[in-house]
Amino acid sequence: MFLLGRHSSPWMILRERIMTCIQALSEAAFGEVDEFARVQGWQVRKRLWGRTYRDPRFDSLMACAACSGTGGECRNCGGSGRIGLLKDRARGCDGTSEGDGSS
Ligand SMILES: [Zn+2]
Repeated sequence: MFLLGRHSSPWMILRERIMTCIQALSEAAFGEVDEFARVQGWQVRKRLWGRTYRDPRFDSLMACAACSGTGGECRNCGGSGRIGLLKDRARGCDGTSEGDGSS
C-alpha cells in the first residue's frame, strides 16, 4: 500500500481507503480458497480482482523425446506426448514404483 503523509491530497487518501476496502473484501472472498491452495502446495498469484492458482507439478511435464511430443502409439509416453518427470523419478530404473513391493 501507499504511505500517506501530511501533504497527501484528498484524492490520494480516498484512493488509499478504497484500495484498503477492496483488499479486505478480496481477502474475505478468497481467504478460504487461498488457504486450500497453500495446503495443496499450489502457487497463488493475487490480483486486485481475482486470483490465479497453479499447481507447480505442471513444471515437471516435458515433451516425450521418443515421439517428439506427438503421442500416437508411442510406448514411451503411452500416447500422451509428454513425460512426467516426478512420476518417472519415483519409479526405479527397472520401471517399478518405489515401495509398492513389485520387482
Ligand atoms: Zn511419446
